[in-house]
Amino acid sequence: MLDEFIHEPRIAYFSMEIALRNEIPTYAGGLGMLAGDTMRSAADLDLPMVAVSLVSHAGYFRQEIDAQGRQMEHAETWDIRHWAQPLDAKIAVQIDGRTVWIGGWLYVLEGHMGGRQPVLLLDTDLNENGSNDREITHHLYGGDSVYRLKQEIVLGLGGVRLLNAIGFTIRHYHMNEGHSALLGLELMRRFTYSTEHLRPGESHYDLPRVRDLCSFTTHTPVEAGHDRFSYDLVQRVLDNDFDMDTIKRLAGEDSLNMTRLALNLSEYVNGVAKKHAEVSNAMFPGYKVHAITNGVHPYTWAAESFRQLYDHYLPGWCHEPQLLMRADCCIPEAAIWQAHVQAKQHLIEKVQALAGVALKPDVPILGFARRMTAYKRPDLLFSDLDRLRAIARKQPFQIVLAGKAHPNDENGKHLIEQLYAHARALAGTIPVVYLPDYDLALAQTLTAGVDVWLNTPLPPLEASGTSGMKAAFNGVPNLSVLDGWWIEGCIEGVTGWAIGDTAGMADGNAHALYDKLEQVVLPLYYGHSDGGWLRVMKGAISKNASYFNSHRMMRRYATEAYAR
Ligand SMILES: *Cc1c(COP(=O)(O)O)cnc(C)c1O
Repeated sequence: MLDEFIHEPRIAYFSMEIALRNEIPTYAGGLGMLAGDTMRSAADLDLPMVAVSLVSHAGYFRQEIDAQGRQMEHAETWDIRHWAQPLDAKIAVQIDGRTVWIGGWLYVLEGHMGGRQPVLLLDTDLNENGSNDREITHHLYGGDSVYRLKQEIVLGLGGVRLLNAIGFTIRHYHMNEGHSALLGLELMRRFTYSTEHLRPGESHYDLPRVRDLCSFTTHTPVEAGHDRFSYDLVQRVLDNDFDMDTIKRLAGEDSLNMTRLALNLSEYVNGVAKKHAEVSNAMFPGYKVHAITNGVHPYTWAAESFRQLYDHYLPGWCHEPQLLMRADCCIPEAAIWQAHVQAKQHLIEKVQALAGVALKPDVPILGFARRMTAYKRPDLLFSDLDRLRAIARKQPFQIVLAGKAHPNDENGKHLIEQLYAHARALAGTIPVVYLPDYDLALAQTLTAGVDVWLNTPLPPLEASGTSGMKAAFNGVPNLSVLDGWWIEGCIEGVTGWAIGDTAGMADGNAHALYDKLEQVVLPLYYGHSDGGWLRVMKGAISKNASYFNSHRMMRRYATEAYAR
């Protein structure tokens, strides 16, 4: 079953999470969605890749929210046997001084244009292992730092060994975030100099060779966000045939910093937007951090009505989304509006089904959905409820929210409770709906069906953000703080609107948000007979969807990172 994939050298793409399809809950948010879009584009472009991730039998979690807005987390157990085939091979790694066996599953990602890409999902739930070790690949981002380190050993060391054992020839390794950086250690073990030519104190690892083989994409613009493990823990859990002095030189003297390790073992390093690369270069002096701005997968993120529209007016857009730049003059405005009305109707029906709330088709919907965590400031819109009510009395609007908080993120969970409280306080003036269990399918419905996509992160903490790009594929303008991709994507009044003026500054505050909403966005919407609103919808498609897509992103990785 592997024959169709192992006959040619491939690029191995390592990611702790990956969003393969809605029924497979092996992702938590944007990072996993990006990994999925990466492989979907590889399938469409026929780039020979192989993704490596963990099977996460219990998923991330299924979110339930009670009437007070308290999040409850349920295991989202899924049956891998339904989707993937077991691999014959097993390999072993040392964890905690024990031998832990790792098997794997082959999931074949099938692109909508016929492309196929292999995805390996690593699994320690084998009879050979004790019950603790069997659980290492159960919970995505679950447990404590010991559990996390074990998962990263399975992903990094185990992934490289399993690829090798089943016959893949890998011509390049791509680490999607630092979680997989231990793959570099496995490559060091493989590529060594013979010791007789070494001067005392010189490392016998062929680091230039390892570096040549690796690229690293960082996603986190704050030091505190990077995985770190104490060397006490590392020495206890990781097998002890690595030279600790070399590891400390590569990964940091005080603790094993996965980002440092990845930086030092990769010839090509990039951030996920221009601003993020700048911030990363300042954070890591001495390294060259390039910028490859993220993108989203064209077919996946265009609603059915927009797929049909583009197929009709811009055939070939699925392979060359650049063609969408013609949307501003080659697609009739009435047809765009009609496609939007359909996508909005689909969202309204989903809201009715999930929340029992009847939203109005002729009143604009603001959408905000993403992981619920403090820096994303989901509460910014609700900073001054009186002002918000005053705006809505003259120019009504409706709000749809969604998003999960990490089970250990108390702030994030508290934010959901506050949003529920705000929704109650606004009842009667502004309909506010919070949809539970944000996932791929809900993201598709939401980013296509709202009228304005809102994003209010605290700069410069949003490395890129991708949900706003999904909105652009459906002609939905963004109203966003200038951070991440929006610094590049915002042409004021043409593709959407900025909240505050200064890129990367904290002036994207609530006043600026209310002013823009009241004086610019809503007036344009309600005057939409003069075509102003549709001009912005067309601007979002032609200027942003044509560029912020994962085909452009992968063509850049292929030529600038993988082809060296
Ligand atoms: C796209 C997506 C995200 C990322 O959204 P951001 O706005 O970039 O944070 C998170 N979760 C799901 C389900 C998504 O589809």
